[in-house]
Amino acid sequence: AKSSEGTSSFKAPTPDSPIRICWNENPLGMSPKAQAVARETVAQGNRYPFESTGILQKLIADDYGLSPDHVLLTAGATEGIRAAIEALAAPDIQLVCPALTFDSAEENAKVNGITKITKVPMLKDWGIDLPAMKKAVADYDGPSVVYFVNPNNPTGAICKADEVEAWIKSKPAKTIFLMDEAYAEFADDKNFRSCSPLLTAGADNIILLKTFSKLFAMAGMRVGWAVSTPEMIGKLREKTASNALNFPAVKAAIASWQDKEFIKLSQVSNKTSREILLQALHALKLEYVPSNTNFIFHKVAVPLAEYQKQMKAAGILVGRAFPPADDYCRVSLGTPEEMTYVAKTMLELRKKGLV
Ligand code: PLP
Repeated sequence: AKSSEGTSSFKAPTPDSPIRICWNENPLGMSPKAQAVARETVAQGNRYPFESTGILQKLIADDYGLSPDHVLLTAGATEGIRAAIEALAAPDIQLVCPALTFDSAEENAKVNGITKITKVPMLKDWGIDLPAMKKAVADYDGPSVVYFVNPNNPTGAICKADEVEAWIKSKPAKTIFLMDEAYAEFADDKNFRSCSPLLTAGADNIILLKTFSKLFAMAGMRVGWAVSTPEMIGKLREKTASNALNFPAVKAAIASWQDKEFIKLSQVSNKTSREILLQALHALKLEYVPSNTNFIFHKVAVPLAEYQKQMKAAGILVGRAFPPADDYCRVSLGTPEEMTYVAKTMLELRKKGLV
């Protein structure tokens, strides 16, 4: 049945079936080709996925112009972050990261006995303070691992490629750059570039972390990858359970990687949703950080906990608190139909003074 929004698939949310825009998931669902092959592969669940895992690893490596020993498949980027931190952990190592970023590197550093964690305060516009990150590395005598999410989560902001690349190319002593580009394919700021060409050119101070969770809408399948030198990849591999990925997920990843139509749809849909939310933010005069991701970090005019409560009552789950940005909300981008509903709800809440 057609809903009032005029699309056949959109249904107004209910408390049991809310609009889930709190975890930076891709609302489209997996590529139909990936879904079909994952379903078929369940019937082969008795088999180890050795051959397909090799195919996926080679597909990815080919894309970077590198041999497969530069690539490690992981259970999401989460496992890649963990393996990298565990591989690099040493009593004297420093983790440098922006004060407001994905917290997985920091959490893993703590459980691996890394006591020197330098969190660099954000710029006023919630951008990453690159000179201060550089200083934190330069001021420390021991080895550093720099965790750099670009574009960043939860802010959605990019760091300019020219500046990031110049720092990496300057090869600061005893420093490894852990480059998390989970959201890179959603970036359209021309100052953003992936660091991957540096890896293709032979850089030995980068571990690039990637995921099938965002662009490819495969968060529940748990597939990611890391790219680095064969030596570094070998060290990361020692920190993972070998052969950990499941057969349907690997097959779905192969199909998704090759489904150019879905990739385009994923990017176009995200952009449309971003525009819809931006229009609402403009109408409500709420400040936001320009987004290069599948979420927008925007100010709220009432305490976040109150805003979350009101949105939840309207069937919409928005992001959690991200201190120190206490008056900001991170809203992931749902489908355009969902975001139209979200925008309408926000405007209604404003009339009641609740946003
Ligand atoms: N890195 C960043 C910056 C993220 O935001 C996320 C998840 O939201 C991840 C890594 C982990 O993603 P996954 O383990 O699903 O690949």
